[in-house]
Amino acid sequence: MPNRRLYLSPPHMSGLEQQYVQEAFDSNWVAPLGPNVDAFEREFCEVVGAQHALALSSGTAAIHLALILAGVERDDEVLVSTLTFSASVNPIIYQGARPVFIDSERESWNLDPALVIETIARKVRQGKPPRAVIPVHLYGQSADLDPILDICQRYEIPVIEDAAEALGATYKGRAPGTLGWAGIFSFNGNKIITTSGGGMLVSADADFIAHARKLATQARDPAPHYQHSEIGYNYRMSNILAGVGRGQLQVLDERVQARRRNFESYFRTLSDAPGIQFMPEAPWGRHNRWLTVITIDPELFGSTSEQVRQALEAQDIEARPVWKPMHLQPIFRDYEAIGGSVAAHFFERGLCLPSGSQMSGSDLQRVVDVILDCHNRSGLS
Ligand SMILES: *Cc1c(COP(=O)(O)O)cnc(C)c1O
Repeated sequence: MPNRRLYLSPPHMSGLEQQYVQEAFDSNWVAPLGPNVDAFEREFCEVVGAQHALALSSGTAAIHLALILAGVERDDEVLVSTLTFSASVNPIIYQGARPVFIDSERESWNLDPALVIETIARKVRQGKPPRAVIPVHLYGQSADLDPILDICQRYEIPVIEDAAEALGATYKGRAPGTLGWAGIFSFNGNKIITTSGGGMLVSADADFIAHARKLATQARDPAPHYQHSEIGYNYRMSNILAGVGRGQLQVLDERVQARRRNFESYFRTLSDAPGIQFMPEAPWGRHNRWLTVITIDPELFGSTSEQVRQALEAQDIEARPVWKPMHLQPIFRDYEAIGGSVAAHFFERGLCLPSGSQMSGSDLQRVVDVILDCHNRSGLS
């Protein structure tokens, strides 16, 4: 029998979702808003330790609303990780503002605090402090937030944490996404838990979340007639999808454990291969290992990460390159970048391995066999 395709990070339903979806059907709450949405927001706050939450149609929408309410406008500058998915950056452009791309450090692959401090100090001296900073918690690992939060607090710059990939991770015992002024999460189909599509905005600032809630529902003023005094968006989550989210939230811990087990298995079987290194787990917290990410030194290993990716694809196994840094993207080439060689290095050598929470031991072995075979066939040993 041919092997079935192994995907990078497929959805993994628990079975608990259906009762909430059924309730939505039974009560005919087939709409954005509704009891599942309210409950999902409440339950999400409990799980991550947030004060207030707003369920939205996507993580991208959550970043957009946070930027609007941080006051980001035309020609403002926003500091953001260069090593990320474009969704971290696009909403900056929606606002007509300018991203400033910041390189990674090597301990967690995230925003380098030294570069953030240097850049903010310089921009303050030049009389144009950034309007917001977006640290991304890449592949499920928190950035080193404390030094970033310190400098931003000093100059009253709002920090919007992009924790889209980092649900279930920790930073010094707390959930990344809950430490800045605002945090965003994603429930896209490939994330650690999913609603098929959706996002969450969290904050300790009740007024901010209330205002975001209004903007997300076409900015209707509290009046029985349709009155508007600002521009709104249609960004709410549907009551059906929130039901899926409630069921998923209950198995988050199991999903994190399964993903971390995948990592441990890959590490055991691949870390001795010459030229293969794993994305490290920084000392300040727990990596959720949403994806297991390796780097491959072609001189030592005998194949490039792209050759390995193609060998996996030939066996119907989906692996993906590390995000192409934003400062190397054609669409963003006119914006300022602070460093970028560290992120470029991870992009050139990095490979994301299949990491779904349903992977079996033999699935993992299938991946490992193809990778080791690339080395063996290279004639290097
Ligand atoms: C997935 C993702 C997003 C966007 O989330 P959506 O829900 O797909 O809009 C933002 N940032 C990062 C780093 C992501 O991985």
